[in-house]
Amino acid sequence: MRSFNPIFSGREKSIFPTMSALAREAGAINLGQGFPDEDGPKEILSVAADATIEGPNQYAPVEGIPELREAIARDNKRFYDLDIDPETQTLVVSGATEGLAAAFLGFLEPGDEAVLLAPFYECYAPQIEATGATIEFVSLEPPGWRLDAAALEKAISPKTKLIVINTPHNPLGKVMDRNELEIIADAARRHDLIVVCDEVYEHLIFDDRPHIPLMTLPDMFERTIRIGSAGKTFSLTGFRIGYVTGPERLITAVMKAHQHLAYTSPVPLQKAVAFGFGLGDDYYRRFVADMQAKRDLLSAGLQDAGFDVAPCEGTYFVTVDIRPVSAEDDAAFCCEITSEAKVAAVPLSAFYHPAIDNPPRYYARFCFCKRHEVLTEASKRLKGYLR
Ligand code: PMP
Ligand code: GLN
Repeated sequence: MRSFNPIFSGREKSIFPTMSALAREAGAINLGQGFPDEDGPKEILSVAADATIEGPNQYAPVEGIPELREAIARDNKRFYDLDIDPETQTLVVSGATEGLAAAFLGFLEPGDEAVLLAPFYECYAPQIEATGATIEFVSLEPPGWRLDAAALEKAISPKTKLIVINTPHNPLGKVMDRNELEIIADAARRHDLIVVCDEVYEHLIFDDRPHIPLMTLPDMFERTIRIGSAGKTFSLTGFRIGYVTGPERLITAVMKAHQHLAYTSPVPLQKAVAFGFGLGDDYYRRFVADMQAKRDLLSAGLQDAGFDVAPCEGTYFVTVDIRPVSAEDDAAFCCEITSEAKVAAVPLSAFYHPAIDNPPRYYARFCFCKRHEVLTEASKRLKGYLR
């Protein structure tokens, strides 16, 4: 029997569907995989439905339909005062996941090095390794998880081509402040690096904190792309529409890979997302306020159940230290609460690479983009079980 590419076949199935399957089997409330339990705005769904019936349902342009690319450019102006040329500086992708893959395949080649800040979102490492590039890891240290400039500098070599950042951060719920962004920008300018910014939670930041795209810092636009996801912005994770913004040179490189991966994305869904970008400020205000209330509800419930709850500044996720309630490692603990307490979570160690020695194994990530009664019931179950 021939063997398969170990970069993919040598890895377990992704932790997110794995925990969802365990949750289903156990009949547990699924606070593992991050997805809302209520779909986004009905008006967006109506546009998708009408556009499907009216057609045409044929290939879209590789770069995305013009009305969505224009909407992406307007969105950049509206929220970040970025002047983006829709024709050359935007690209529609089939979810941020595909956009990330297209970016890594478009930019990296064997012999290159990429820097990842651990913990990091699961798909980055296999996608980067599949290009033939190698990864240098910089571990953020609990409990503050702040980026240390010296640690970053140590990870950079003459072979380093690219660094990936994720803010707001999954799984930490942390938002990079200007000081941390300056550390990245300074290193990128000095070492001539490309920065791939995973900003899928750009509109999920709480307590009136700002989201600062790295590309708004001086001299950073030309070396930065930012990747967003309609799945997160409009609570439609199944739509699989993502968007990439950046300078023409980088966008073209990503497009050249995208055209041989997803090629294009479904036209009716692109039309619907273009419509979504036109929603008023009210939509975004309510979206954030609603999610913030859910964060507060679940954080209080987890605290009450005995966990040490870390602050959450953005995203769908709150991370807890499990040591006050369990001596197990995070993976065993998440399986145990799924099958016994009937509440699923994701272990933080899943966001580390096997090459990283001694990742913390005492954090669990809970997803709070669920209805209030679901969060209340989950907290009650955890408290009852852990008492
Ligand atoms: N990056 C991060 C940090 C994420 O949390 C996710 C999905 N939850 C993605 C990328 C992928 O987004 P999409 O569903 O648009 O592929
Ligand atoms: N990003 C979501 C999470 O972190 C899940 C996405 C997925 O299943 N690929 O839970």
